[in-house]
Amino acid sequence: MQATTQLLHSIPVDAQTGAIAVPIYQTSTYVQEAPGVNKGFDYSRTNNPTRQELEKIIAKLEGGTVAAAFASGLAAIDAVIKLLETGDEIVAVDDIYGGAFRLFEKVYKKFGISVTYVDTTDLGAINRAITSKTRLIWLESPTNPTLKVSDIQAIAAIADRYKILLAVDNTFASPVLQQPLLNGADIVVHSATKYIGGHCDVIAGLVVTRDPDLGAQIKFYQNACGAVLGPFDSFLLIRGLETLHLRIGQHCRNAATIAAYLQQHPAIDKVYYPGLLTHPNHDVAKKQQKDFGGVVSFSLRDDTEAAARQFVTSTELFHLAESLGGVKSLVSHPASMTHKTIDADKRKAAGVTDSLIRLSVGLEDAQDLINDIETALTIVSATSQTVSNKRKQKSTIC
Ligand SMILES: *Cc1c(COP(=O)(O)O)cnc(C)c1O
Repeated sequence: MQATTQLLHSIPVDAQTGAIAVPIYQTSTYVQEAPGVNKGFDYSRTNNPTRQELEKIIAKLEGGTVAAAFASGLAAIDAVIKLLETGDEIVAVDDIYGGAFRLFEKVYKKFGISVTYVDTTDLGAINRAITSKTRLIWLESPTNPTLKVSDIQAIAAIADRYKILLAVDNTFASPVLQQPLLNGADIVVHSATKYIGGHCDVIAGLVVTRDPDLGAQIKFYQNACGAVLGPFDSFLLIRGLETLHLRIGQHCRNAATIAAYLQQHPAIDKVYYPGLLTHPNHDVAKKQQKDFGGVVSFSLRDDTEAAARQFVTSTELFHLAESLGGVKSLVSHPASMTHKTIDADKRKAAGVTDSLIRLSVGLEDAQDLINDIETALTIVSATSQTVSNKRKQKSTIC
């Protein structure tokens, strides 16, 4: 049976009522027949039928054994880091999600957990960073916004050799394109806010583990620390999962079409998309992913913040906003938005130049999206032309 059929039919019909949609159990507590005698639920922080259904579905979809749903992607990451102790070290991908960086540096550092950031596309760099205190390798693949792809299978072999955990933030790929647990990772994390929710209407996070004992530890922190996902939000994720395969397929087709269009456009400098043969990690992406995802980044020949700002405020179908993975296309300018707090040299070294623009390609018609980009690029070119003419005029006067 195909994955999409399996997924749809892993969502059960409600035994009590026949409801075909998973009911929203909007309840905090459960009546007990006698003290300690219940129907498997006693308090909704610990367990809730709607959340439990979501957790079962995502565990299966990622090829894991245990899943836990959290109130945000960051709460999910937080639960994983709680597996560590003071003195432990993490080796993490260098162009890590900004919120994860803040969590590591501003919260966990003061508890004595330290992080070494390396280019995880370089296996040698990972090997060199591992010490006797390393307990966890933290990957994102593809990364944001330059879509670097790391070889999960090869890194899992390194983690195995040193007996340390490998966690993969699978937000950008989604379980439809990539199942890190089947490549040897121990833990998968999602910001389900993005593709899994898929409609920009919920903040949520998920953790899935391969090993049931590790899963039990995550479940312990889910209950003990309490950042659980509510029943209604769990319902929204289940509904998102029902169309995930369909949506991801169309996101990928649209993104590939747009990446090819951008690559031949004279106003564009670099295009970042793992599906392009020119992408430095294309071969790894091809081996490891079913397709190349819905995010495309690019820089302009006129590599100025002014030009990028002009672009992101000139599109009409691409709305200017943070986040990604929704049905409607979004555009963002990392240098002044998500990556604003990183100092300029470090930011540029990671490829986040002043004119870098990130597109979260939605489900609109691809040609309409291209027309929108074309119009915005024409506006940018006209403005750059005027600016450079003015500069020339000025210089002749001087
Ligand atoms: C958005 C995001 C997160 C954080 O998730 P929230 O749901 O916003 O808390 C973590 N990792 C990646 C890759 C993300 O894009």
